[in-house]
Amino acid sequence: MKNLFSIRMRATKKVGIQKSKKSQITDVHISGAEGLYKGSEIQATVKRYVERALHHPKGTADSIVVTIEELMQKPREIQLLPVATIRCGKPVQGEEIAGLLLQLLGISKRSIGRSFQLIKRGNMRGAALITAKRGCRLEPDTKRGVRASRLGIDSAVSRSLSRRLQKFGINTDTVKEALILASKVISCEYVIAELCISDDPDYTTGYVASKYFGYLRIPHIKPQGSSSGGRAFFVNEGARVKNVITYLEKIPVLATKEAPCRGIISADEILSGSHK
Ligand code: AMP
Repeated sequence: MKNLFSIRMRATKKVGIQKSKKSQITDVHISGAEGLYKGSEIQATVKRYVERALHHPKGTADSIVVTIEELMQKPREIQLLPVATIRCGKPVQGEEIAGLLLQLLGISKRSIGRSFQLIKRGNMRGAALITAKRGCRLEPDTKRGVRASRLGIDSAVSRSLSRRLQKFGINTDTVKEALILASKVISCEYVIAELCISDDPDYTTGYVASKYFGYLRIPHIKPQGSSSGGRAFFVNEGARVKNVITYLEKIPVLATKEAPCRGIISADEILSGSHK
């Protein structure tokens, strides 16, 4: 394999907020993207990322930071999680489905409640790292959270994934990038599940990802127009925090193996165990 580069983009915008009679300027996240690319793909990728940063429903960015970094180690190869969409019509139902799935995966009600609370509060750059039973926060910087980074997809696998997602009308950058991210997160030996709700006010589909159920999309998990969102990674109680964070943030991972994609399925199909 030729040398690969991690390309990451982060776009933010300065906004004024009122905090106890004082006004403050703060950076609000507008958009982000990343992947692993060959040297010959750098220019086109940077152009695509910058265009994305400049045309986002959350507003126009006033700062766009692009980092291009050659990988110093060969990426670990992983398989994409199988994809399906659970039939869901409204946020209460979506939260209930996500909660039931997480409980089936052995996550306690306390940890699930904590994750929803944090996600609804929003405003984190990364994900909350939460223990599955006691609901303890593990990341050293709870304002920032843990960022899954240095991840990408092999170009042939990406084309094939697009064809599969296309059959169900979900071949978008949002779905593909979230699937790659979740596949890396779940490939970490200590991570049991991920819960994600986007902070994009126009994107109301969330997901629960796990080794057991794969990547399960949950439409309408939040109301249209809501800009709260976030991610929670649930880990075993005995997880080695340092190892988890190093793996998620620093170890390069490339999705080189495909997985099946399905269309819309009922929650009962999953919850009764007849999905496999
Ligand atoms: P998005 O899916 O981009 O709307 O992101 C939703 C939320 O997930 C953000 O508000 C962050 O809290 C979190 N998040 C975004 N990107 C990452 C990442 N690479 N690693 C961990 N958490 C992330």
